[in-house]
Amino acid sequence: MTKRALVIATSILTMVISVRVMIAALQLEPTVRIGLNQNAATVSIRSAQAFRVEQSPTRSAKFTAIVTVDAGKGSTLKKEDLQYRMLIELDGGKLLVLPMSSKIRLDAAGSHLEYDNRTYRGTLEVFGNSRNTFTVVDELPMEEYLLGVVPNELSPRTFGQLEALKAQAVAARTYAVRNLGQYRREGYDICNTDSCQVYFGAGTEDPLATQAVTETRGVIATFQGSPINALYSSTCGGRTENVENIFDEKLPYLVSVICEYKHPEPKPFSSTRSIANWKDAVLEVARVSDLSAARSFLGLSTPTAAVPSAAPDATYGPDQATGIRESFYPNVKPPSDMEFLTEQGILSFAQPISEKELLFRLIDKKGGFEWQQGVLETWDGQTATLIINGAPVSFTMKPDAPIYQRIGDDRLSMKEGMWIGGELMDFRSVDGVIEMLVYRKNFVAPAADRFSRLAMWQVHKTKQELDTAFKPLNIGELKGLKVVDRGPSQRPITTEVIGATGRSRVRALRFRTLLGLRDSLAYFDEERNSRGELIGMSFYGQGWGHGVGMCQVGAFGMALDGATYDEILKKYYTGIELTKLF
Ligand SMILES: [Zn+2]
Repeated sequence: MTKRALVIATSILTMVISVRVMIAALQLEPTVRIGLNQNAATVSIRSAQAFRVEQSPTRSAKFTAIVTVDAGKGSTLKKEDLQYRMLIELDGGKLLVLPMSSKIRLDAAGSHLEYDNRTYRGTLEVFGNSRNTFTVVDELPMEEYLLGVVPNELSPRTFGQLEALKAQAVAARTYAVRNLGQYRREGYDICNTDSCQVYFGAGTEDPLATQAVTETRGVIATFQGSPINALYSSTCGGRTENVENIFDEKLPYLVSVICEYKHPEPKPFSSTRSIANWKDAVLEVARVSDLSAARSFLGLSTPTAAVPSAAPDATYGPDQATGIRESFYPNVKPPSDMEFLTEQGILSFAQPISEKELLFRLIDKKGGFEWQQGVLETWDGQTATLIINGAPVSFTMKPDAPIYQRIGDDRLSMKEGMWIGGELMDFRSVDGVIEMLVYRKNFVAPAADRFSRLAMWQVHKTKQELDTAFKPLNIGELKGLKVVDRGPSQRPITTEVIGATGRSRVRALRFRTLLGLRDSLAYFDEERNSRGELIGMSFYGQGWGHGVGMCQVGAFGMALDGATYDEILKKYYTGIELTKLF
């Protein structure tokens, strides 16, 4: 079949017959047309290899829309005398003027074409559109297109597992086959952004992703013979969600599944020292027992006479404010020391605090304890490897390091216990040795995506930020939130937003967008002042993305544990088959 005949055949078929028949027609690798820009005022294309524009060889072509006048001699201008035309400037200042509707095809014979700081395989096509701007399309074989998609949808650097990348290649190919012709009216098949799937061209290709595309050539995921809607998201947080709870369409293969493959073995930990109160432990680990020690711990070494006296039962309030301010904030000169220290969270007008509480607050609020945060990857009883900012870092555990489990706002002293990996840890380390540690139990326990630093997240929003976020709902100042129902993955499906002048029920995706959260899966804590007024909220979640379909980090975790790409795909897409199209 010629390409033109194939295009006509597929367009008729998709219009009148099911997609199932269409895929039977794709015996050969299809050509795809990717929209790189649909609203460009000017377009510049370059190549190392010469290409031709209307028979003229060149290495660069700059397209601009110009207005020309077709008026006869001496006559008055009419609107229709003015016409948009395409001006193309080639090497050596050579100019071409063509009708705006011209389709200019550029092909550098095997070399890549450069457009907008990216390089592309295939043929670039430039044409004027109804907005009198330019549309730029990259036309190339499906498999070559996927080479520029897979590494941008699942990073081979962070998630360098071949089987996970192969699963991603099949998902991306399935998406492309299913959506061929989606933007036909604009003159291409698929867009190049995350509204479709991200395509950044030849410059982003990666050998491992290329291998993944090659080894799955022509394979797509089908359900009852049709290509599936292969949705995927970064990190599901332990369980994927039913599609109809996020998007308003029910599909039998997009149902909630538990994101696990091989169960990890819990590894015991213990400490020789347990201190019931974690604040006491902070002071013990810091070896701070009085204000002088606190000053030297915080590096405030210059001698001062201002350190307030430290009687054993001393309490600290407004009378000690000036002494404390002078000792610990020597370079700040506020109008009122007490107001300043209250703002800093050190003292409180409401009630005086104990010396221990004061020491803890000084160390804590001034960041002196230098808490670090990471997600536990491996633990062998002595050495812990934590993922910090996406990279693994190893630490030795001090045998007497006090260990706490954080439950809500409480920190429970743990002399011994078990870790399975994926625990979120706050800790203090000195020269690679952990001196104190607070962990949060891994709720996603054996999930295949537990290693992601995105597996758990926490965001704090001030009252002002919340009011701004919910402003589009037009219900006045925020008073509170209430989850109406949750889906199988525990994502809130409907949340009621309570305002001063009304209430609004918000679906998951909208809620996530309004607040700018990573995922719709969230629990929240309201913070209220002594008068019961809302002053802020903390949101806790697991995962990143909508949580429907393939969990990309879960796919990586499964591959690490030895799963093949078809096992991965069949895990996240219930009841599917893999079909080789070409
Ligand atoms: Zn997952």
